[in-house]
Amino acid sequence: MEDSTEFEDQLVDVIVRCPVTDKFFPTGITAVPESFISSQLEGNSSRCPLCGQTHRWGDSEVALDN
Ligand SMILES: [Zn+2]
Repeated sequence: MEDSTEFEDQLVDVIVRCPVTDKFFPTGITAVPESFISSQLEGNSSRCPLCGQTHRWGDSEVALDN
């Protein structure tokens, strides 16, 4: 018997690329990869710990940190 259907437990950190330092930083948001990929991500903003600014981010800047 296999039980591999618990996707809810597979939360990963959502990270965003900082346009100033060109490095990724954690947004503090966690998501399930399957639902995250299919969702529309526009108009979000996060305070960047790398440069101190607040960045708006969408699909093109975001990634998942496994
Ligand atoms: Zn930044």
